[in-house]
Amino acid sequence: MKNTSDEKICSIVCGSKCCRSTPPALTKEDFNKIQANTEQKRWFRTINEKDSIRVVGKKENLIDCYFLSENGLCCIYENRPLDCKLFPLFVKIKHEGEKEYSLRWYVWYCPLTKKKGIEELLQKAETIVHDYLVVKPEIMFDYQNVMCESGGYKKKHFLKEELLTIKSND
Ligand code: SF4
Ligand code: SF4
Repeated sequence: MKNTSDEKICSIVCGSKCCRSTPPALTKEDFNKIQANTEQKRWFRTINEKDSIRVVGKKENLIDCYFLSENGLCCIYENRPLDCKLFPLFVKIKHEGEKEYSLRWYVWYCPLTKKKGIEELLQKAETIVHDYLVVKPEIMFDYQNVMCESGGYKKKHFLKEELLTIKSND
């Protein structure tokens, strides 16, 4: 589920398919943010006890994400997991040196990629990733870890690789 200008494509054209299929993986920050902002206690499930990998749970007897509303929108939009913020794009990150990262981008083709075009989505996703790498790079590595553990990178299509240098005044 994307921002309000994408709502029509996501909820009407697509039928919120991504929010009804694979559960989003949660970074520690995602988990703490949602936990602090919801009264619900059964909204997540743990899929790896040892590493405490968590994903958003599904509604009882349904395949829908716990936070998908009746009208096909996200009830926790401001606090949605990073996995959802980047979707339908995915990124793998490697630390190449001080303030230098290589990013490998992947995509899941869906109505949004067709209607919006990859470039616009990529621009937004790059800004999100860049901002995390400036202030809290550990969150991007936590994202990568939970995506690997939850199988989130599976069956995604490689898009491009780029080198990102964080400038000292960023
Ligand atoms: S699969 Fe794509 S078009 Fe459908 S709800 Fe998710 S992001 Fe939107
Ligand atoms: S948290 Fe929100 S955006 Fe993410 S899958 Fe659930 S309903 Fe969709």
